[in-house]
Amino acid sequence: MSIFAQTCGIVLLLVLLVFFLRHKKVELRTEQAFLACLLMTLACLFLDIFSIVAINRMDIFPQSLVSFICKSYLVSLVGESLFPLLYICIDIDSLHSARHLRRKLFFIGYACVFVVLIYSLPIYYYYDNGVVQYTYGPSVMITYVGALSLVISNFVIMFRQKTRINAMRREAVMLWMLLWVCTALIQLLNSALLIVGYGSAIGIMILYLNIENPESNLDRQSGMFNHNALYQYIRQKYQTGQRFSCLTIILKHSLVDMLHSQTETFTEIEIAKYLHSIPGVKVFKDSEDKILVLFKNEQNALEKSEQIREHFEQEWGRENDMYARCDWVFISDSQMVENEDDFLYLLLYVRQENLIRSDSSYLKVDMPLVNRMYEEKQAEAMLRDSLAEDRVSVFYQPIYSNREKRFTCAEALVRITDKDGNIVPPAKFIGIAERNGMILALGKRVFEKVCEFLQRVDIQALGLQYIEVNLSVVQCGYKHLANDYIEIIEQYHTDPKQINLEITESASVGAKQVLLKNMDTLRKYGISFSLDDFGTGQANLNYIVDMPVDIVKFDRDMTTAYFENARATHVMNAAIHMIHGMQLHIVAEGIETKEQFEAMDKIGISYIQGYYFSKPRPEKDFISFIREKNLPAEAEV
Ligand code: C2E
Ligand code: MG
Ligand code: MG
Repeated sequence: MSIFAQTCGIVLLLVLLVFFLRHKKVELRTEQAFLACLLMTLACLFLDIFSIVAINRMDIFPQSLVSFICKSYLVSLVGESLFPLLYICIDIDSLHSARHLRRKLFFIGYACVFVVLIYSLPIYYYYDNGVVQYTYGPSVMITYVGALSLVISNFVIMFRQKTRINAMRREAVMLWMLLWVCTALIQLLNSALLIVGYGSAIGIMILYLNIENPESNLDRQSGMFNHNALYQYIRQKYQTGQRFSCLTIILKHSLVDMLHSQTETFTEIEIAKYLHSIPGVKVFKDSEDKILVLFKNEQNALEKSEQIREHFEQEWGRENDMYARCDWVFISDSQMVENEDDFLYLLLYVRQENLIRSDSSYLKVDMPLVNRMYEEKQAEAMLRDSLAEDRVSVFYQPIYSNREKRFTCAEALVRITDKDGNIVPPAKFIGIAERNGMILALGKRVFEKVCEFLQRVDIQALGLQYIEVNLSVVQCGYKHLANDYIEIIEQYHTDPKQINLEITESASVGAKQVLLKNMDTLRKYGISFSLDDFGTGQANLNYIVDMPVDIVKFDRDMTTAYFENARATHVMNAAIHMIHGMQLHIVAEGIETKEQFEAMDKIGISYIQGYYFSKPRPEKDFISFIREKNLPAEAEV
């Protein structure tokens, strides 16, 4: 019997073991379980060799010892199929759940039954020409039954729980098990080919390369644990119910740093070195610029956080050559949120909500903030469901023309109906949709609905010229916007002249360029534009000069200020003068009273939109309103 394959397997596993132990690890259960699998396979290979040596030298070893070694090898084969099963179970259940414990104990108990059977049943040796060729008998048979049933359980679990098991882990364990089964079959057919152990060693190597290489959890540049490690680590913390505190350092690189990215990296390495020197903490680098320091205990976290911030000020503060500008977010107790996904969502929320604004700010996350985060998360889910279940509708608010003394257009305003049938206003979801990108789908849906409305209803016959549709800043900076919208217009055979798109000012220069291109294409196609929210930004006057719009819409804030503040009156008068000088029309929004309406009429505003005339109305209501106001004779009939 040759031991060549087993020796190769041992060498391979020893190399992997050295690599595995050499690198810093996150302390995950999966890491421990992988190490157990590796050691089990190694033991199996050694026992394989020992058993071959023992049965070949039966002349010197006592029969009972030979039998014990051979049976130990068989037991290790059962272990070989049990350990991967325990390894994948880590992904499935919450680690401290009774279910996990039951499942684990069941499989261990099941395997133990086979261990007892293997040791108690007889084993026989097949001789050929006086030399032992292989072992057989009840002990060997029961090994096959035990190992195979565990491998089958492995496949069943991987199949049934596929969404809960890490996809890469699943793939690697499947490959490993397949290799194991194939090599076992080959060995069964040709007893001289002792390759089961080697096949298993290859399986371990696949697992290592696919998912268990500790290096894949490290950020190469700084040596901190990376995002992948962070997710797994905090997941485990929530699964096991272990609390932790977290100090997040958000590095804000200045333009000079970016130009000298060497400097940036250097600071980061320095920072990593310092943080790693603090005992009892784990340091992660979440994305490009976020460092998370995780503490096991809240009191310790408070003290250490203070020290860390002081150290930063001394070493990389404003006064120093190497300046690390950063924001600090402190989460004192991980149990403020329910799970790892919420924890990461909270960090994103804090950033995106611009809760940290100043140059070097410190934010201690409290429960009201967490509750706001959950509200946002809920709103996000509602928005997603509403889009999927088409609970998005459009309300129309009539716009009055002072010159023609009737309603000549309207603004389309999105509404969502929640599961209980309540109408949700845009303030509750537009901002969220802009942050998570859903605004593209939402905006498109609104536009489709407006085009479909224009196809169904002859607005010209109602005395209306066009419908204004809002575009979000995100949509304006989306380069396929013009094509998408033209496609929809053609699909519904809409007259482009009946559409006016409302844009708002964007701070980003890049987005402005994209918007100009979009506007150019759409204007050539026959669509006109308005500038919405005039009076809320800072550079709005410049914007009117740069943007090819036909209408400027004065925001409600501005029109209200006009009646309350003398300076605002002057500003608005000057703006009106200038806008009229550019041959553009003005819509005053938020007009609620007769006095306001008359004052706007007096200063030459062409269009009025506001509750004075009408609130935004559902489609049917809007049509009857316009019919009644614009075509009174017809309405009477
Ligand atoms: P906006 O485009 O400036 O729309 C005018 C808002 O002012 C509307 O609020 C309207 O109901 C409200 N309004 C009009 N007249 C009066 C008034 O006399 N008094 C008061 N208090 N309010 C008045 P709404 O419908 O809640 O929409 C709020 C904002 O949400 C819109 O401001 C717009 O920025 C955004 N929005 C609405 N629909 C869409 C949409 O389909 N897409 C995008 N991207 N944004 C939308
Ligand atoms: Mg608008
Ligand atoms: Mg507006």
